[in-house]
Amino acid sequence: MQDINDLKQLQTMVRTFCDKRNWKQFHNPKDLAIGMSVEANELLDLFRFKQNEELDAVLQNKKEAIANEISDVFFYLLRFSDLYDIDLFDAFLNKLKINEQHYPVDKAKNNNNKYNDL
Ligand SMILES: [Mg+2]
Repeated sequence: MQDINDLKQLQTMVRTFCDKRNWKQFHNPKDLAIGMSVEANELLDLFRFKQNEELDAVLQNKKEAIANEISDVFFYLLRFSDLYDIDLFDAFLNKLKINEQHYPVDKAKNNNNKYNDL
């Protein structure tokens, strides 16, 4: 079972990686958000032009590339939250609670509408 200490350890590893390269100068919140979005789009690109019936094959055949892009997104999440003092663990738990309120099981089960359309 992972816990908050593992998350903080990963943030420290990212910080060390960036400090060694003197990258803080490039890591304002806008550019970190752009980086996160770019990496999410690199993940999306792996599925581009694939039909629904091809998605399982993409998952299998490009698993390493997918894992790399997900990790790139995670890198930016860790870096953003570390530099701009957001407790990612608490923020995630808080947002999960909000989502539980937005998507009550009796309304959201088997329904993928956004919460304001439930
Ligand atoms: Mg990437």
